[in-house]
Parts: sequence; structure tokens; C-alpha cells
Amino acid sequence: MKIWMVLAGYLFASIFSLGFATGSPNRTSNTQTRMILLGIDGMDPAMLQGFMDQGAMPNFSRLAAQGGYMRLGTSVPPQSPVAWSNLITGMDSGGHGIFDFIALDRTTMLPYLSTSKTEAATTEPLAIGKWRIPLSSGKTVQMRDGTAFWEILEEHGVNTTMFRMPANYPPIETGGKALSGMGTPDMRGSSGTFTFYTDDPAFKMGTVSGGEIYRVNVHNNAITLTVKGPPNPFLGGNPPAKAEFKVYVDADNPVALIRTDSEKVLIKVGEWSDWVKVNYNLVPSLVNVPGMVRFLLQGIDPYFALYASPVNIDPRDPAQTIATPAEYAFELAEHAGPFYTQEMPEDTKALSAHILSPREFLAQSELVLNERKRLLHSELHRFKGTQGAALLFFYFSSVDQRNHMLARQMDPSHPFHAKDTPKDLAMAMKNTYLEMDQILGWVMENMDADTSLVVMSDHGFAPFRRQANLNTWLEQHGYLVLKDPSKRDRYEWLLGIDWKKTKAFAIGLNSLYMNVKGRERFGIVAPGERAGLAREIVEKLKAWRDGPEGQLVVTQPLLREEIYNGPHVQEAPDILVGYARGYRASWATTSGKIPSVLIEDNNEEWSGDHCMDSRAVPGILSSNEALNRQITADLKDLTVSILDRFGINAPPQMKGDSVFYSHQKTDYLNP
Ligand SMILES: [Zn+2]
Repeated sequence: MKIWMVLAGYLFASIFSLGFATGSPNRTSNTQTRMILLGIDGMDPAMLQGFMDQGAMPNFSRLAAQGGYMRLGTSVPPQSPVAWSNLITGMDSGGHGIFDFIALDRTTMLPYLSTSKTEAATTEPLAIGKWRIPLSSGKTVQMRDGTAFWEILEEHGVNTTMFRMPANYPPIETGGKALSGMGTPDMRGSSGTFTFYTDDPAFKMGTVSGGEIYRVNVHNNAITLTVKGPPNPFLGGNPPAKAEFKVYVDADNPVALIRTDSEKVLIKVGEWSDWVKVNYNLVPSLVNVPGMVRFLLQGIDPYFALYASPVNIDPRDPAQTIATPAEYAFELAEHAGPFYTQEMPEDTKALSAHILSPREFLAQSELVLNERKRLLHSELHRFKGTQGAALLFFYFSSVDQRNHMLARQMDPSHPFHAKDTPKDLAMAMKNTYLEMDQILGWVMENMDADTSLVVMSDHGFAPFRRQANLNTWLEQHGYLVLKDPSKRDRYEWLLGIDWKKTKAFAIGLNSLYMNVKGRERFGIVAPGERAGLAREIVEKLKAWRDGPEGQLVVTQPLLREEIYNGPHVQEAPDILVGYARGYRASWATTSGKIPSVLIEDNNEEWSGDHCMDSRAVPGILSSNEALNRQITADLKDLTVSILDRFGINAPPQMKGDSVFYSHQKTDYLNP
């Protein structure tokens, strides 16, 4: 192990997974079942059916004819970390404790990302001159509770590979292989921060959501730039480490040479570079941490414009554990080349900030999908070479991420739809579905005939045309009071709220909280009045209407007790707000702001969504195995179905029904 691997733990916090092993010895599965489970985030049944009806998706049609095809109910709320956690554990949020992308610490009233949490180091670093030597590391812990279905499979002797299962960061340790996906940070420790360098005066220097913009000057056709990396734990205040690189611009041709301390690459204007290694010297000639970045040279003349992707953890030389066993990331890169390791690699934020155009975003997203195809080829090949009972899970993010960003291009009713939308953009989502069909076709051609193939999505999609300011609704109904309404636009993250007069508030995508005495830091609602107040708000939300036609805004406001079971129900938001199709919590609501207007158009590139009424956005399930259509299945049923297909009875906390016709079973407790 290299010195920086030992030290890397101090960078972002080292990895300890909670793990929920039951301590049982390895058992042998009574089947030789082999299954490929393809997870296509955000694949929508109505879109899929529409394209199948046009004859455009022959492989999905063939799979449906071989076995079956059905809608797959999603989670409440239908957000990816919640939905995938339902599949992972076979339980709802009351069981696994993930309720929203954004969770709330009731003691500080500050939000945090729900799936993992960093715990601070316990001892102070040792100070020697300007250097600080960390003596203990903090740690990142996975917040999801419950046993993952592949832990149970492993206990029964099934060989498992989990390629980027969302909400599995840090990856739980089992005897199988896993690469972490959603939740995995970039080298800065963020969910992905791009850098944009330009001398174009049209761009304002500074920080945007998910990126940084720098105004630069090219002198004599050359420029020295830096890209930020991890916080340096060896320096007081932990400033971000910086990696330097030089760009030499050709005076006559639209081309530039980029040189880091270990590599040089020549790129043309409009071209994406391959992965370029960058090094962060945390302590010169002693501690070096590698990362990797992709560049897009957008222009030289009249203005220099260079996009640098978030610096990714290099799977060939990972600065922290992103896989179990740790070498698995290296093995993948050895077989399929370097690849994006950050959580959701499609750079939606650079498109939102108008640094990438929709076409550039698509091209970047295509780089991601091409890497995934290479990795799938390599993993399918390895899967075929293994013996005995085995499961390969493989995850695709492209459909979800593109649908979020390109929905307006195909939706003439979207307020941000341009009448003269170019055909390639209007067709981009259909073409993405066709690409997924080709991938499915490739898998069907190349897998063994006796392997079960299951294709699923965690939720579907809907347009996101209107954004609802839930806190403003609460204010207008007297449940929320601001200290000074004239300063409302200055505050976010719930600051500016007069807690002494506030009974309810919202933060996150679907969560609504009562301000309960003894629970929330400044609570005023007596615990005995909480449920009654929540019921009252639910009833009023049902009457919320928008526009001249009186469109309902909230079609599925649910009390937590109506939907959740298990030990975490008490931690849940009091109400889960399911918006009508076309509506979603406003951008302001997600970050705890209280604007003056109640409902606004969504004029963002992020123009499609699924965080609404769960009934409006089911996912899909298809298999070469016959599916029992008597069952209205949701994600939790799929968990039970997977175990069932391997001949394992689900443990008691999993209440679902198998969609597969009966197989020989092994009792979970008495194999
Ligand atoms: Zn999504």
C-alpha cells in the first residue's frame, strides 16, 4: 500500500461501512441460478411503451415477449436514493431511514445529504511549522439501515457483483465485488465541481452551483492554470490542494496542447480529451495524491474557453476506497480503461450554468455511456467465466440524467421550450432509449441461455413545468412566519424564519416538517398536537390549485404513518408531499427559501423530474422469466423476487411478493 493510500483516509474521511452482516456462516444456495440485473435509472413505462409500439425498441419488445413486462411501483417519495434503498433492503423508508435527498438535523436545523455522513476526526492534528500532521481520521458512514439483498445472496453462496448500485457509498463489505455509484465524491469531496477558464468578458468570474468560473489571460499563446483538488489536511485551515497545468495555444490552428506534470494532450477546438492525470502534492516530494480530469476546449478565437470536468478519483490509483474489495476499481480500469468514478457523472450542473450547451452536455453524457458499455462488456465477460450461482447488477444513469436536462427539448408545453428546437435535441431522449435497446440487445446476444435477465428502473419521468414554493404556501396559510418579510430573498436554508411563531416548514424535495417542541431545536407545536396539525395541513394541501383552469398542485400529500413501517418512522418528515404531474417543489423550497410568489414557471435546463406523486412516475420491470401479472409489484416486491429466484425465502422484514412463478425455496433462517 502506498503512503498516500494510508494518508488518503485523511482527505475526505476514511471508509468504514456499517455493514449489517448477520454473522451466519456461508451457506450454499440450493440453485445454480445466474441472474443479470440491469438497473436503468429513470426509464419511464409510458415512453418505453410508446417507442415499443412504434417498433423502435425491438430488443425490449423481444424480452417482453420472452418473459414479461410490467410497470414497477416506485417509492414514496420517488427520489432515487429512496427508491434504490427500497430495492436494496426490500423495506420502505421506515425500515431503511432514507426519506429525501436532503435530510434535516433537528438539533442544528441544518440540512445534510441523506445517504452518508462524515464524522469528524477525534484528535487535533500535530502542528509542525506550517504543516499539520493528522493523528486520526474522520470517517464516512453509510446512513442506510437494513440488510442489502446481495448480503443475503452472499450468505447463501451466491457470487455477487454490484456495479454502481446507488446509495451504496461507502460500499458495504461483502464477499462479493462492488463499485460505489451515487454518493461517491469527486476529488474535492463534492458531488462534482467543474472548472471553466475563459477570457470572454461575457462570463462573470465566481462560483456557480456545481462549478467555478475563472477569468484568465492568455499571454504569448500560453497560460498556466490550476485545478482544485482535495482539502490539504497537512496545512492549517485545510485549503484545497491545487494541481497546475499549462495550456499552449496554436497561433494559426484551432488546437491547443495541455501539459500536466505527468502527461501532455493535444486537443482541437470542440473536442473532448481523454482522461488526463493530475497530481496533488500535499507535502512536496512526500505525499502525492492522483486524480484525473477531462477537458473540452470550447474555443481559442476570439475567446479562450476551456472546460475541465470535476477531478475524478482515478480508479487505476484510487485516492480513497470506492470499491470492495478495493482492487476491484483497479481491475475494472485495467480491463475497460479509466472511467468516471464520481456519483452522477453527467455534468447537469455545467449545462444548468450554461457553460456546456445542450449538445455539449449530450456529447459528455455519451462519453459516460460509452465508458459504461466498455465496462459492461468486460463485466459480462467475467460473469460468464464464473461458476455456480451468481448475480451481476449493472447500473445506467444516462436515461435519468438526460431526461432531467433535455425534457424541455421534446415538450412543446414546457415554458422553456423553444419553437425552433433543432430536431436532434427534440429527438435526444428517443435516441437515448434506442441506445438502451441496443445495449439490451447486446446483452441478450452475449449471455448464456440459462441466465435470468431482469431489466428494471427505480422510477419513471414527468415534465417539470411549474415549481411550487411550499414554504410560501405555508406562510400564506399562517403556518410559517418570517422575522422580516422584506428581507425574504436574502435567506436560505430556513434562515430568516421566526421559529417562535412557525408551526410547519419545508426543506428538500418532498419533505414537510412540523416544528415540534422537544424535537426541532426551536419547536413550538406540542407533541400531542403534531398529528392533528399534520392532518389539517394535508387536507388544505389537497385544495391547492394553480392557474386559470384550477389545476391541482398536490395530488398525493401523505402522512408518514400512512406509508411507512419500521423503526425509523419517527425520524420521517411528518408529511410527504406528492406533486401533480408537471409540478415539483421549487428550487427555492429544496434549499429552504421562502420567496413571495406561490408558483412559478420552471425556466431551467433541468426541465424533467420524478420527485412528485409516486403514482405518476412508476418504473419498469421486464424479464426473460415469466412475470406473474396478478401481482401489482413495486421495488420492494422485486427484492423479494430476486431472493425467490435464487431459492431464498425473504427475511421477515421484507413484506413483498415474488413476481416470478414459484421456485424451490430455501428458508432464509433454515437453509
Ligand atoms: Zn433523477
